[in-house]
Amino acid sequence: MKKLKEYIIESIKPLPKSVSGLIVFDIDDTLLRVKPDSIKIYKKDPNTGKEITLTTDEFARDADAVNHKDWFDYRDFNNEGLVYKSIIEGTPLIKNLKIMDAYLQAGYNFCFLTARGCEDIVKQALKDFLRYKDTDGQLKALGKKFKDTLSHAVNDITKEYHGETDAIKKSNILKKLCKTHDTVVFVDDDTKNLQWARSLKLPNLKIIPAWKD
Ligand SMILES: [Mg+2]
Repeated sequence: MKKLKEYIIESIKPLPKSVSGLIVFDIDDTLLRVKPDSIKIYKKDPNTGKEITLTTDEFARDADAVNHKDWFDYRDFNNEGLVYKSIIEGTPLIKNLKIMDAYLQAGYNFCFLTARGCEDIVKQALKDFLRYKDTDGQLKALGKKFKDTLSHAVNDITKEYHGETDAIKKSNILKKLCKTHDTVVFVDDDTKNLQWARSLKLPNLKIIPAWKD
C-alpha cells in the first residue's frame, strides 16, 4: 500500500501545465462519503411482497442484486430532497480534496462526473458543499472554477447519456471533455471507471485513482 504523502505528491506532480485544464471528480467515495442511511434501497420479498430497506453498503453485499434486479427499487436516488441532503451532510474526503486544491490553485477548472441521477440538484448541492483551499490558505467556494455545463450525472432520467454501463457513459463524457481541454485529470474510486478511462488511451487524460481509507 502506498503511503498517503507519496500518493498525494505523485498525484499532483508533475502537475501538467495547462492553459485550459480541467479536473473531473467522481462524487461518492471520492469527494465525499454519504451517511450510510441517507439513501436507501428497497427490496421486495418475492413471496410475501413485503418491502425491506437496505443501506447502500448492504445493497452492495446483497447476493440477489445481480440475478434479481426486479426485486429492488431505487426511488430514493430520484428523490430530490434526499439527494440534496445526502451530499450536504456527507463527510468530505480530505485526502482527495487536497488533490483538487492543488489543481485549482494551478488554474484548473472543476467539474463532476457521477453515476447519480438528479443532475441539477447534485450541481446545487455540490456548489453549497464544496470548498477549496486557495494559495493563501483560505477556504473558499469554487465560484467560477465550478463548471456547470461540463458537470454530468449520467443516470439523470431527463437527460440522454449513451452507454451500456456507468463506466462507458463516463468514458464517453471524458472523450468529449478531452477534445475541448488541453489537459483533463479524472479522479474516481471505482476500478471499472478507471479501467474504461484508461482504455481510451487519450494523451491529454491523466487518471488518478481516489485514495481509499
Ligand atoms: Mg465513486
